[in-house]
Amino acid sequence: MKKLGKPVQDITKIRKVVEEVMNEETGNVVRFDDTETAFKMKTDEELKKSAWLFGMMNRHWLVGIGSKVGLAAIRMHLPFVESIVKNTIYEQFCGGTTLLNSEPVINRLSEQNTFTILDYGVEAKETEEDFNNTMNEVIRAIEFASRRKDIPVVSTKVTGMARFGLLESIQRGDTFTKETRAEYKNVLKRIDAVCHTAAQKGISVYIDAEESWIQDPIDHFVNMMMRRYNKERAVVYNTFQMYRKDRLQFLITSFNQAKRGGYILGAKLVRGAYMEKERQRAREMGYPDPINPTKEASDKMYNDGLRFAIDHVDEISFVAGSHNEQSSQLLAQLMDEKGLDRNDRRIWFSQLYGMSDNLSFNLAEAGYNVVKYLPFGPVAETLPYLIRRAEENSAAGGQTSRELNLIEKELHRRGID
Ligand SMILES: Cc1cc2nc3c(=O)[nH]c(=O)nc-3n(C[C@H](O)[C@H](O)[C@H](O)COP(=O)(O)OP(=O)(O)OC[C@H]3O[C@@H](n4cnc5c(N)ncnc54)[C@H](O)[C@@H]3O)c2cc1C
Repeated sequence: MKKLGKPVQDITKIRKVVEEVMNEETGNVVRFDDTETAFKMKTDEELKKSAWLFGMMNRHWLVGIGSKVGLAAIRMHLPFVESIVKNTIYEQFCGGTTLLNSEPVINRLSEQNTFTILDYGVEAKETEEDFNNTMNEVIRAIEFASRRKDIPVVSTKVTGMARFGLLESIQRGDTFTKETRAEYKNVLKRIDAVCHTAAQKGISVYIDAEESWIQDPIDHFVNMMMRRYNKERAVVYNTFQMYRKDRLQFLITSFNQAKRGGYILGAKLVRGAYMEKERQRAREMGYPDPINPTKEASDKMYNDGLRFAIDHVDEISFVAGSHNEQSSQLLAQLMDEKGLDRNDRRIWFSQLYGMSDNLSFNLAEAGYNVVKYLPFGPVAETLPYLIRRAEENSAAGGQTSRELNLIEKELHRRGID
């Protein structure tokens, strides 16, 4: 058997050399069309299942109906529906129903030199009891992460720990009542408990950006936490949605504020997930659209954000949360041009679990820091997240065709198409 193994290794080496020469010619630092590396983690059966799933998600009407039926059925506690969801879309995009049963996925990511961000995927909650429960789950995730070397960070949403209406009311500038003041204090305590535990346990926390009409209080909370916990290292990261016209300036302002306050800015750069909702609300309520007018404008702002972060890397730790090949290629190039180590712990690439494995695993293989965003939690509770993934993947010109093309290429390479 050993004799058979050697030539294969040689071929792999030759292939790498050829790729390096080709990359030099194209100016690319990493090749994102290496599907062998991208799907190494998947068995033939798993790959065929992913092809089937992305094929289904390509049908817009099916996703529309499926989301509604799925939500209703799960609310009615129909066990067979839960089992179908679990064995299809949940398996593609989530780690497991608990921390412990997410471990096999975390281990497999680790085998490909890829780190994990744990995200307790429960959303759309409204009671104080739910919010306390989310806080406890996030704290448990931090403790779990601190016992492993491959989970440097957990992710959370302020709306998991605060009522949406409360955040809206704060942003509108409503005066506090006795009740809302008490509610506000509880939110602050929950967020602080999460960040404090992370600081103590050597873990970081990424805090998501959400709708623009609740983002001001979120920014306020996160800035407060960064000031408190980011003195030595970036424990807390805010998220900057570069599809918003004002966010490049906000990144610069946050940086200056951190500099003045003597703390490190933690920044997650994303394009932004609520474009249609944002535009619709602005139209309906008659205020200027906060989103860039074109995709190109968002792309430019995103890439300018990366350039700004790289230029100030001594005082910013940042993560590029993106499935965009050009932006990922650009960041890899900028790091190399600046002579930064590819595994510099201040700079991370991040993609969602189940998507853009061609970026994640090829970047990791080339030595960059990659962290996959891995939601976990009960199937029924992760449904809003799963529906967002299905809708995103069914949008015209969306991610699905990209994913499906890559999977089909790999099936062909393996000779099983
Ligand atoms: C690890 C990770 C964490 C994330 N965290 C958050 C978060 O906290 N908050 C959040 O909102 N999103 C978050 N996202 C989602 C992200 O914002 C994007 O929606 C998603 O990743 C698609 O953008 P992209 O950079 O991958 O690139 P692409 O697929 O190239 O870009 C698509 C994006 O471009 C923008 N866009 C598209 N068309 C237009 C247009 N006509 N005009 C202006 N802009 C346009 C939109 O933002 C759209 O989502 C996260 C994504 C990842 C991978």
